[in-house]
Amino acid sequence: MPISASQPLPPSADGVATPAGGTVTDRLVDANAHYASAFTDPGMDARPVLKVAVVACMDARLDLHDALGLELGDCHTIRNAGGVVTDDIIRSLTISQRALGTRSVVLIHHTGCGLLSLTEDFRHELAAEVGQRPTWAVEAFKDLDEDVRQSMERVRTSPFLLHKDDVRGFVFDVTTGLLREIDPQR
Ligand SMILES: [Zn+2]
Repeated sequence: MPISASQPLPPSADGVATPAGGTVTDRLVDANAHYASAFTDPGMDARPVLKVAVVACMDARLDLHDALGLELGDCHTIRNAGGVVTDDIIRSLTISQRALGTRSVVLIHHTGCGLLSLTEDFRHELAAEVGQRPTWAVEAFKDLDEDVRQSMERVRTSPFLLHKDDVRGFVFDVTTGLLREIDPQR
């Protein structure tokens, strides 16, 4: 697989509507101006109302708030490639629990994840190409269920977290929108 730095997106690339001559970011900034024009301060506390942190893949097809019936202010959403529990996810969960009062953890992987088609070769090829070895693992996986179990285990065994009694893991099906719960015991 070729590895290259992302190229700047030309205006209207792939048919994406952008303001005349603008980049995709210009489009987002314009959308924000519209959003803010109708926005009123909800006066919320930073602590999530439902006391839950959701760890999920960054996949563009996964709309966590809609899929889980969440409202603004309800939860922390912590996302990365794969929804894998890395050290940085543990960092966020630790702050989520110890500083912002969450108690439950929901882990979500999904069908058709890009990490299913990668291997640690990605990392070796990257190192060969750029001349610097990444400090991070790719965290690629072949078995979704097994990786959800691995992620649950990493949360449950973290010494930094206060609350590990309500940790559940799921696979989201991007074709049906349904969650399938993963038994931690297999
Ligand atoms: Zn994914």
